[in-house]
Amino acid sequence: MASSPSDCIFCKIVQRQIPASTIFDDDSVIAFLDVSPLASGHLLVIPKVHANQLIDLPETVASDIGRVLPQLGRALLMVSGADGFNVLQNNGEVAGQVVGHVHFHLIPRFKDDGLGYRWNAGAYEDGQMNDVCDLFKQALAS
Ligand code: AMP
Ligand code: ZN
Repeated sequence: MASSPSDCIFCKIVQRQIPASTIFDDDSVIAFLDVSPLASGHLLVIPKVHANQLIDLPETVASDIGRVLPQLGRALLMVSGADGFNVLQNNGEVAGQVVGHVHFHLIPRFKDDGLGYRWNAGAYEDGQMNDVCDLFKQALAS
């Protein structure tokens, strides 16, 4: 997984060195059609600045992306005629990230489209939720 700007395919799209079907472009963010869509209208929303994963994004850039997601979602519903959509954002190879430039998938969803996650929900043991909650508070305070 490439994570430096010089060999990053999405940086090349930002710099217009390779083509993309761009549907949105502002100072900080572009959105374009995924070339191998899970459904017609599947979008990728990316920052113009190179960052490998979500945790690497400056807050201002994260904010720029978050601000445009509702607008892009509304357009996706209009264009695709979908009944809903998923926002999917993979961080790390183990999570399915292939392109090492942070990106948000917007995926049109239709009834019985066959897409989905195996959502193997587990359960906490007695007291474990409190322990995990405390660990998060410590992590966020550090
Ligand atoms: P991920 O597995 O989350 O890293 O997803 C990467 C996505 O980028 C995949 O859905 C690819 O189809 C898509 N992709 C890769 N190269 C291009 C490209 N040149 N133009 C548009 N989409 C691309
Ligand atoms: Zn990049």
